[in-house]
Amino acid sequence: MKSSVRVAIVGTGFSGLGLGIKLKEAGYNDFVILEQSDDIGGTWHENHYPGCACDVQSALYSFSFEQNPNWTRMYARQEEIKAYLKHCAEKYGLMDHIQLNTHVAGARFDERRHRWTVETCDAPALWDYMTQRNMVAGDALDRSDDALPTMSTIKADIVVSGMGGLSTPAYPSIEGLENFQGKQFHSQHWDHDYDFRGKRVAVIGTGASAIQFVPEVAKDAAHLDLYQRTAPWIVPKPDRPIRPLERALFKRFPQSLNAFRQSIYWSLEARVLGFVGDPRILKIGELQARRHIRNQIKDKTLRKKVTPDFHFGCKRVLISNNYYPALAQDNVDVLTDGIREVRANAIVERNGEERPVDCIIFGTGFKAQDPIPKGMVKGRGGQDLLEAWADGAEAYKGVTVTGFPNFFMLMGPNTGLGHSSMVYMIESQIQYVMDALKKMDRHGWQSVEVKPDAQSRYNASIHAKLGDSVWQSGCKSWYVNENGKNTTLWPGFTWQFRQQTRRFDARQYLCEPSAVSISAAAPAM
Ligand code: NAP
Repeated sequence: MKSSVRVAIVGTGFSGLGLGIKLKEAGYNDFVILEQSDDIGGTWHENHYPGCACDVQSALYSFSFEQNPNWTRMYARQEEIKAYLKHCAEKYGLMDHIQLNTHVAGARFDERRHRWTVETCDAPALWDYMTQRNMVAGDALDRSDDALPTMSTIKADIVVSGMGGLSTPAYPSIEGLENFQGKQFHSQHWDHDYDFRGKRVAVIGTGASAIQFVPEVAKDAAHLDLYQRTAPWIVPKPDRPIRPLERALFKRFPQSLNAFRQSIYWSLEARVLGFVGDPRILKIGELQARRHIRNQIKDKTLRKKVTPDFHFGCKRVLISNNYYPALAQDNVDVLTDGIREVRANAIVERNGEERPVDCIIFGTGFKAQDPIPKGMVKGRGGQDLLEAWADGAEAYKGVTVTGFPNFFMLMGPNTGLGHSSMVYMIESQIQYVMDALKKMDRHGWQSVEVKPDAQSRYNASIHAKLGDSVWQSGCKSWYVNENGKNTTLWPGFTWQFRQQTRRFDARQYLCEPSAVSISAAAPAM
């Protein structure tokens, strides 16, 4: 393990790997990619529940510089996406830079040396420690506890977070949950050894993950109770296998694959007109979703239960062809009264009905509003990033934060999408970071920090646009924090974001010349 590097990247998802590839291409070899899991792939390694697949077409949900003619379906499944990421890491020579099973416990900026000190520890040892103390991911570590696994340090000029916003599972707080005697797990921690046959299963949540695994569990379970708090809008999924002939064509003529990718890109981009332009356009989607319910569910009571009561597009619009048919099965009940408490072997609904259960699956999503755990990133003056974000996360172009020099985020605040491929946004941010690095080297800057007024102006402008969007139309979603501030989504076309991130705009930054260049520039005495 290297003790000092130019760049330390956290995470081996699309962000971390994509940046690693671009660093290598530009001749930077002094970097490390730290990964807490035992394999690479980020969210596509962590999430492996049955039915897990991407809800953006794979021809677009992949790197522009490594287009894949071999996708077997329009919407690839988890295993295929993970294999694609592995292929990228191997092809571009990243494996020697990746350190698996390495948890980043903290990163502290050293103002005197203009460098970061990154603290790491053995991830499996940390999970054991946390399990013994009943802690969950994201909980702050007690540094005075002698039982805490030994920490190592890496010095890095630059730290880049590729941790993504949806990595820490969120669990509901339900009375009596601690007394439950059966099996329980979160969708991100799927237990494939658990046999659902003959079991009564409860699923809590009806979001993007749950609608993918519920049909799979319903195939095997004796009974499935689905606890729905809010019915999502769901439209048909235009999925199909990609035929061998099509794949051969993509391989032989890569331009055809690129043209296909472009056609998907522009058709998804058109949705922005509804999300942030004129919400009346979204009526078309709503009609399609209502028709989907009518086509797939005969029972009028069930139809009513699964029909959302908020504006189409306010929460993430989901796609599925097998979710409604699963709900219509005889062994599935959709329960909307809410949960009063959990007992040793049962869930009690608010209406007082006690329903026996062997296994509870939490499809309750992620802590999207706290993408980085408290105490993990400390900038100038020892300020904690989460304290800087007390009113909600914000950054300049989603990448840099005032008070945190030489710290860059990929998929930072307000870079998420409700309509297209995150990989496109990630590549835009990678371009920005790479340009920053090159300019730092060219001008001999040892640190760059975005100016507070640049960050404020930028955020004022995007929040003005967000104010008119469908996401602020009154529903409760993980896009928006408890104060009503949308900290997650980009309010515009993705090509507009790309234009903004094409170049590192150094004039918006405090650029600290390095000691060497100061002395070089100083007149001889
Ligand atoms: P999610 O969309 O946040 O859904 C969580 C579900 O749990 C919601 O139905 C929510 O209800 C419910 N819930 C949360 N707390 C609850 C509580 N205390 N009691 C009852 N119900 C509760 O989470 P997710 O399904 O894991 O998806 C998260 C995000 O991951 C997605 O939005 C998407 O961006 C991403 N994702 C992407 C894909 C893909 O294909 N690309 C697949 C899966 C996930 P409410 O709606 O009432 O809050």
